[in-house]
Amino acid sequence: MKVLVINCGSSSLKYQLIDSDTEAVIAKGLCERIGIDGKLTHQTMGKDKYTVDAAMPDHNAAVKFVLDALLDTDKGAIASLSEIDAVGHRIVHGGEKFANSVVITDEVMAAIEECNDLAPLHNPANLIGIRACQAHMPGVPMVAVFDTAFHQTMPDKAYTYAIPYEYYENYKIRRYGFHGTSHSFVSKRLAELIGRDIKDTKLIVCHLGNGSSITAVDGGKSVDTSMGLTPLAGLPMGTRSGDIDPAILEFIAGKEGKSVEEITTILNKKSGVSGLSGVSSDFRDLDAGMKDGNDRCRLALDVFCYSVKKYIGAYAAAMGDLDAIAFTAGIGENNPYVRRVSTMDLSFMGIDIDETKNEIRGEEQKISTDASKVQVWVVPTNEELAIARETVELVTK
Ligand code: ADP
Repeated sequence: MKVLVINCGSSSLKYQLIDSDTEAVIAKGLCERIGIDGKLTHQTMGKDKYTVDAAMPDHNAAVKFVLDALLDTDKGAIASLSEIDAVGHRIVHGGEKFANSVVITDEVMAAIEECNDLAPLHNPANLIGIRACQAHMPGVPMVAVFDTAFHQTMPDKAYTYAIPYEYYENYKIRRYGFHGTSHSFVSKRLAELIGRDIKDTKLIVCHLGNGSSITAVDGGKSVDTSMGLTPLAGLPMGTRSGDIDPAILEFIAGKEGKSVEEITTILNKKSGVSGLSGVSSDFRDLDAGMKDGNDRCRLALDVFCYSVKKYIGAYAAAMGDLDAIAFTAGIGENNPYVRRVSTMDLSFMGIDIDETKNEIRGEEQKISTDASKVQVWVVPTNEELAIARETVELVTK
């Protein structure tokens, strides 16, 4: 089957056409600056990558460009749209309504819309992407794969915030967690790599990218995760603060006369390692800065790694044991320094990193010593492939 995977942001649309039989990417690309001006970058594997500036007033127009790029006689990948068997859509927030991926129906669309206020920047864009695909590919089955779904197995003690219970009852304020597709994909792979039935494993997945989250996976189920009601919570990130004392909001508001919205924007866009270092949100720049003696780059890296380490300790305690840890996403896959410092001095928990093996970048490899009780692995994530697999499973049922 050929599955088109669509990941719509507010002004962007990423896509991959995947052959589900071989799991190979046939073509991929990105529409950017939708609603501003518009730019398409497309590559069919084995052919030249190209970029075109093209007016994309909305996502409908962007989807049309994507389909035209796929159909292009020269640089495209398919001869007819009928070759696309199904479309898988990444949806950020499924609230408590979706614990699994689902085939998209009118009822599903309405239920996703009801989750809009939980993810006001993302869900509306996801819905626009679905409608645009439906308009251009009528009759093609579509599947919604939710970032939050994998975490719906968390027990109430892990997802409930200690604020008046009415806020949960009335507004569904609770921990939801994100990156679920990645945590699910990587935990399954990690269990395979350590040669165990996932039902009998206690795993920690560290998804460390621009956005970062850590999940405790017990018996294949998410039992706790670091992100919360929104993806602002948990670890410090590229530009997001992660967990802070909630009273800081009022404190800054009082000192600087800023509104809650302004401060939330600062916590989302000007904080994290970017705000700490004053240099960059990109960990490559922080590594370089630290090597040049920039102490705030050193501090940003230390704060980040210390936070990762504390989650590892906390989640091992939460599960009562630990079999293996996976590092994944941009930083988890490519940053030996972060992996080493985050797991330093954890021999007492049975975690020992092999510093030579840890130099690996972007490849699946065990990085713990043979004597380490807890196996530590680099496991590259592949959210698009995970979405394609879910899509095939649902449409062939
Ligand atoms: P996103 O959450 O936007 O998908 P990524 O998972 O791509 O982000 O993570 C971005 C981070 O990963 C950056 O801080 C960057 O330093 C790091 N990163 C990505 N690729 C590499 C690489 N090849 N080498 C070193 N660091 C990388």
